Amino acid sequence: MGYCDNCDRIFEIVEKNCPMCGKKLNAQPLLYPIKNKNNNQDKSISEAWKAFLEILKECSILSIFGYGAPLSDTDAIESMASAFSSTFRKFDFVEIIDIKPQNQLLDEWDPFLKETNYHVKCYTNLFDSIIAEFPRRSIEGYCQRNFSLWWGESAIKLKKFQSVWELGDWLQPLIDKENNNDYSLITTTFTEHPEAEYDNNR
Ligand SMILES: [Zn+2]
Repeated sequence: MGYCDNCDRIFEIVEKNCPMCGKKLNAQPLLYPIKNKNNNQDKSISEAWKAFLEILKECSILSIFGYGAPLSDTDAIESMASAFSSTFRKFDFVEIIDIKPQNQLLDEWDPFLKETNYHVKCYTNLFDSIIAEFPRRSIEGYCQRNFSLWWGESAIKLKKFQSVWELGDWLQPLIDKENNNDYSLITTTFTEHPEAEYDNNR
């Protein structure tokens, strides 16, 4: 990512220059786990951090992947927990993708989990998570299944690819829909009234 100190905004660095004012973008520094984040020291980091906390406040599903909430990152974890708990969470859902033992994960992420009434799933493999089951559509998939009694399957599930370009091609039908403001699922089967077809003898 690149940061324009003239516009105070973050863009993809592929742009090289700010698409708004044309000034050269600065590469954004990485934010390492530290006890006291002191985010104000670097403006691009504090802006990115602020934007991230806003997204966290609004999210319906929180997928934690590639971040172990180390004890050395206390400031960050406190800010994230307070952003996450600023909204009513009883219908929301947290998934944690991590190879640590489940009881350790539940303990470490407790400030987030108690907000959702411990509505949590732990996976050791990314491919079992809802972000893999419904790429770019996790919320839509989750709502269809849990609130609309839908019983179908996503036709596009994350799998292993040889390259990021191959992955991009695979996701393209979803991106095409998004370009038309259509965020619906692409499914293999779609049953409007699953209760009508449900076998009661099962
Ligand atoms: Zn600019």
